[in-house]
Amino acid sequence: MNKKTVKDIEVAGKKVLVRCDFNVPLDENGHITDENRIVGALPTIKYLIGNNAKVILCSHLGRPKGTFNMKYSLSPVAARLSEKLGIEVKMAADVIGDSAKSLTAALQDGGVVLLENVRFHAEEEKNDPAFARQLANLAEIFVNDAFGTAHRAHASTTGVADYLPAVCGFLIQKEIEIMGGALANPARPFAAILGGAKVSDKIGVIENLLDKVDTLIIGGGMAYTFMRAKGYGIGKSICEEDKTALAAELLKKAEVKGVKLLLPVDTVVAAEFKADAESKTVPSDSLPEEWMGLDIGEKTIALFSDALKDAKTVIWNGPMGVFEFEKFAIGTKKIAEAVANVNGTTIIGGGDSAAAVERLGFAPKMTHISTGGGASLEYLEGIVLPGIACLNDK
Ligand code: AMP
Repeated sequence: MNKKTVKDIEVAGKKVLVRCDFNVPLDENGHITDENRIVGALPTIKYLIGNNAKVILCSHLGRPKGTFNMKYSLSPVAARLSEKLGIEVKMAADVIGDSAKSLTAALQDGGVVLLENVRFHAEEEKNDPAFARQLANLAEIFVNDAFGTAHRAHASTTGVADYLPAVCGFLIQKEIEIMGGALANPARPFAAILGGAKVSDKIGVIENLLDKVDTLIIGGGMAYTFMRAKGYGIGKSICEEDKTALAAELLKKAEVKGVKLLLPVDTVVAAEFKADAESKTVPSDSLPEEWMGLDIGEKTIALFSDALKDAKTVIWNGPMGVFEFEKFAIGTKKIAEAVANVNGTTIIGGGDSAAAVERLGFAPKMTHISTGGGASLEYLEGIVLPGIACLNDK
């Protein structure tokens, strides 16, 4: 990892602008329903407080579309952060206005201010240089610790780095070290499991991983496009007809590169797309015409689990079936369990698979659960994320 971290820069007495990911879910009364992202940001914030920095936090929350809309105010986050840190986190009434200016100017060493939602300004998502400069003017150092938005070149994720020394926080550092390390120099055998609804969302990931992995396991809705490419009857299963040629090409590529590519051998099909739909398990090469595949079958679970048994590095992104329906969540649960049992580095690439792993209680058994869905997918594609590229090299 060649990017500077908070530990590589003198922060004592300095005003440090930290871009966090405080995009937490709120209920209709504005109460935080999941504080994971706040908890995730604490190590960097505590380090800065402990090292006598003047801490200025910023983040987006939801999609206020460039206007001040207090439904998306970060004040519930300031309250929760105050509880967690045991000190008052002062909430600014704006982002770059008088309130932000006076509160940050008055900061004592070890004090913390949270700016309002950066997306209250349309300039944020446009990465407007004048807006980035005004944000940067509040501080002397920029710390990016929001991996979840690191794939977006916005003013608070990238633009400010044009005006300030820029380093990463501990969350981004962990993402780069573990995910970057696995991609650059994996312990082998290296297996990747991809699932989820669509191939089209993950073409770049498949292409990139085919150059790196020993085994590529494909399940979930995206598997049917591959099965169609192989000439299998897939009934009414989800399929991207315009991607079957590409799927065939990817299958060929795997063969040429000597990558073991595994597809489901049996499928749980349902009569309709419903939680309590009638279902049965059938071989994957001949799904009944009026039925749709909603999960992987038992034989596939055994095949995939067996392929993971000796792996030393595993990356997983995307559920194995329609796991939102309990009846069709078995494949996803069993694969989560198989990954949890791997004796090596296990990485869960954000989004639905991360949620599934958390819900099933397997999170403590994984090496790393990425904090960014879209960002981790782009990272797995081999794309250089702008929120990381802008940081200073060691
Ligand atoms: P993604 O966001 O691409 O990771 O996809 C996640 C979604 O894929 C979840 O909402 C799943 O319900 C869906 N999914 C997984 N397997 C299937 C399937 N066999 N048919 C339809 N949707 C699926």
